[in-house]
Amino acid sequence: RTPAPWQHLAAAPQGPACTPCHRRPQGEPCSGRSAALRARMEERLLGARFRYLNQQLYTGSSRDAARLFRADPAAFHLYHRGFERQVRRWPERPVQRIVRYLRRRPASLVVADFGCGDCTLAASVRNRVHCFDLVPLNPRVTVCDMAEVPLADESVDVAVFCLALMGTNLQEILGEANRVLKSGGTLMVAEVASRFEDIRAFLKAMAQLGFKTVSKDLSSSYFYVLEFAKTGPCRPGPTPGLRLRPCLYKRR
Ligand code: SAH
Repeated sequence: RTPAPWQHLAAAPQGPACTPCHRRPQGEPCSGRSAALRARMEERLLGARFRYLNQQLYTGSSRDAARLFRADPAAFHLYHRGFERQVRRWPERPVQRIVRYLRRRPASLVVADFGCGDCTLAASVRNRVHCFDLVPLNPRVTVCDMAEVPLADESVDVAVFCLALMGTNLQEILGEANRVLKSGGTLMVAEVASRFEDIRAFLKAMAQLGFKTVSKDLSSSYFYVLEFAKTGPCRPGPTPGLRLRPCLYKRR
């Protein structure tokens, strides 16, 4: 199974023991080893905070996430630092796949990027891109919960969720994408491979939400890229297959 994306953050390297700062005679400058120890401890602390935040994001609703980051914008920046460090280690950034996809299609298509992060997508294509996230990492961001975006019904051609299906209210979030997409419009989902419990059941549930599978790239052990076309509005009723495992990790 693919390691959860944040694993590295907790895995602080083991270094030699060194004299704790409080045992040094007063006024003596901190040795290189003390500074290294301190940096390692800080890193561990950040790792622990990050794991806690990450768990909250994947185990609560999108509304809970909105409340969390509104109350503590610093937490958001910590989360993003962790996110950036992780995706830099992957062989390819999933958002680059979406960029390549959009570059092959007409630049006139209007795009909505749900959970846009630092707006890499908007900055990389010529299309008009509506960028939605909980805190503005970039001036292009419209701050909102992705379950309730300020767009008219059937107003966009392409909706994107790139590593952004975090809330437990998946049906509501994808229902919002369905609402803003034009009929026949495209939904692109890039998501961590190990989150899918049963991809067939997931795609079946997507069909019930009004999204026909157009293509699926399951070749990467890091992330899947799924392309859907909107066939119509969401059909009501339970969608038991619409489940994604939270992207949690254990401290190693
Ligand atoms: N799509 C970007 C960022 C992915 S990280 C990329 O691929 O680079 C996931 C993003 O989803 C984060 O920026 C996070 O803040 C955002 N997010 C999580 N829950 C959200 C919600 N309820 N509403 C809006 N954005 C949300």
